[in-house]
Amino acid sequence: MRDNKKRIIIAIDGYSSSGKSSMARALARSIGYRYIDSGAMYRAVTLYAMRHDMINPDGSVNVGVLTDALPSINIDFNVDGDCQSTMLNGENVEKEIRQLPVSNNVSSVAAIPAVRHHLVAMQQDFGRLRGVVMDGRDIGTTVFPDAELKIFVNAPAETRAQRRVNELLEKGETVTYEEVLANVQNRDHIDETRAESPLRRATDAIDFDNSDMTIDEQNRALLSLFNKTVS
Ligand code: C5P
Repeated sequence: MRDNKKRIIIAIDGYSSSGKSSMARALARSIGYRYIDSGAMYRAVTLYAMRHDMINPDGSVNVGVLTDALPSINIDFNVDGDCQSTMLNGENVEKEIRQLPVSNNVSSVAAIPAVRHHLVAMQQDFGRLRGVVMDGRDIGTTVFPDAELKIFVNAPAETRAQRRVNELLEKGETVTYEEVLANVQNRDHIDETRAESPLRRATDAIDFDNSDMTIDEQNRALLSLFNKTVS
């Protein structure tokens, strides 16, 4: 076990499908920290809204009804060995929240201030004992502005879309590069332009362009940044 005094918060932010979740998960595993995927929380709320007909056919969200329902939406993570699943009111929704219908609606749901306030409070609670790696869009700017280590991951939209296509095809989903690229670009746009905590690089974040790095290189670079921060 590492020295408790040195348990820190690591905020990993960046654009959609930049590989930040895999990096964050691998880092958390190697240093014995808890990993929190904040995007999964926005995805779970989106799935709840879709299942309860709170998203209109034109893609707009019934904000009032969703806001009223927020107290009855409970999100947690179930860890089983190396596998972490997102739980929505006790149900494992890990697979469903990664599919394209949820991806296509999530940024609109995530732009709603009441949803953000609700989830940011839950995220801050997950990190109250520190010793957490959290990835998302606003972790270094809004959720934990005092995080000891902040990373901002980026790579061109085309590279990110191709990676996402490969991941989805591996999982047996049928998707095309064009639809995934459109989804990535659309989410980037909504995330960057929303009024409430838009996607921004924190001024004290370290830029991390992983387009030409293997997974192993990314993990080693991140671990070295962590070791420098706690030493
Ligand atoms: O990280 P992931 O791509 O799974 O996140 C899904 C969506 O949730 C993002 O496109 C973004 O709209 C939203 N999100 C957010 N703030 C976060 C994490 C995710 O707005 N901290």
